[in-house]
Amino acid sequence: MAFGLYLHIPYCEGKCRYCDFYSKGGSREVPDAYIDALVRQMQHFCNCDCTSLRPDTLYFGGGTPSLMTPAQVARLIDAASPVPKAEITLEANPDTVTLESLRGYRRAGVNRLSVGVQSANDEQLRRLGRPHAAAAARRTLEWAQQAGFENISGDLMLALPHYTSAELERTLSLLIEGGVTHISSYLLKIEPKTPFGLHPPAGLPDEDTAADFYLEAVARMADAGFAQYEISNFARPGYESRHNLIYWNCEDYLGLGPAAYSCMGGIRFHYPLDLNGFLKGNLDIVQDGKLDASEYIMLRTRLADGLDLQRLSERWGIRLQERQIRMLRACEKAGLCTLTPDRLTLTPKGMLVQNSILTEVF
Ligand code: SF4
Repeated sequence: MAFGLYLHIPYCEGKCRYCDFYSKGGSREVPDAYIDALVRQMQHFCNCDCTSLRPDTLYFGGGTPSLMTPAQVARLIDAASPVPKAEITLEANPDTVTLESLRGYRRAGVNRLSVGVQSANDEQLRRLGRPHAAAAARRTLEWAQQAGFENISGDLMLALPHYTSAELERTLSLLIEGGVTHISSYLLKIEPKTPFGLHPPAGLPDEDTAADFYLEAVARMADAGFAQYEISNFARPGYESRHNLIYWNCEDYLGLGPAAYSCMGGIRFHYPLDLNGFLKGNLDIVQDGKLDASEYIMLRTRLADGLDLQRLSERWGIRLQERQIRMLRACEKAGLCTLTPDRLTLTPKGMLVQNSILTEVF
């Protein structure tokens, strides 16, 4: 069983208008005191007297991890002591990196870069409150290759205000010409407590139009050689995110930092959303209960590989009943899933209505 370590870096230059991730806007750097706090937590969980957990994957997420210096990243990797050939990912925002900093991350041991491209349309980026322009994203992808990264992911947001197929096409071209090997593609979600939640932007596509953009993106990425392996993730062969697969396969992961979530041995917990408390070591970890069958089914049906029905029966004692099989056969006829004696797999169209299918059937 693989083990993944997630380190949350809750600092950002500004706050994007749609974002509800826990991060402190107005930051130009990550204080050393925060790196110290993360190292203390790693020592507590991974290298305490009774255990020595060496991660198979290490993920710097945020926030904006590329506000860290290469020396800070090197220190955290050293403290985490990942296994040889571990996948080590760092999320980078285009306006925060230079060729030198990317070279520094690579030398520190980062071997996978995830670049927040989002759109190739500058007007759109301004509307979203992103601090970068498309030219900076293009340059970051070039620099990433020059710095020696072969495993590069790019984020692509879909169904943005006034969205068009032309914007989708331009953004995909920027990513593909920039040499990415992996694309994470998300529909814009309006979260209630964000500026977009309080004042929704004009020109948002309706649900059906957003779904059409998603299916168009899936088809376009397939044509370009990016296979869909999860609802929102697409990769060239061999470049699937090993870290994220740990989440979806319900294997063990530990998240350190305010608002970071963990699931270890089927027990779920998270750190409170309290940066000052984390810095001071005042940690009241919140228990979230046990991983259950419904979460397992939900996570597995996100994957193109689908839900292994034999494993569902062995691990959770659940076997499909006649009524459920009849419903799934109806979904199959509608092009939403495929059902074989040992596997349930949603199609891209089915993934769009995953919640409804699972609620009805399970
Ligand atoms: S850079 Fe990322 S984490 Fe920071 S505010 Fe924007 S979307 Fe949120």
